[in-house]
Amino acid sequence: MAFLKNNVECARGKTIEEGNNIYSVLSEKNSTMKYSVNMDLVCCDCPIGKDGRLCKHQVAIAKFMDVSNRNIIPLNDPKQKQYLYYIAAGKEMDL
Ligand SMILES: [Zn+2]
Repeated sequence: MAFLKNNVECARGKTIEEGNNIYSVLSEKNSTMKYSVNMDLVCCDCPIGKDGRLCKHQVAIAKFMDVSNRNIIPLNDPKQKQYLYYIAAGKEMDL
């Protein structure tokens, strides 16, 4: 995912919240084009994200809008971190 972290800086200031956990990300190459990302459905209408794979637009939204989906580990959500710890370790996380 390191390659995605480097690629999303271009999306800073180009992510727009449309409502209902849907976001738009302006294209870096074509200023008249934007990609629509549904974080609930874990998809984007770009060639990579349209089948549910992780794309740089989802990463940009997670980074700049502080929203996660099941493709992205939520680093800022304590409940999700506890849940993932429980899955991995089979026991509650001590806080
Ligand atoms: Zn995308």
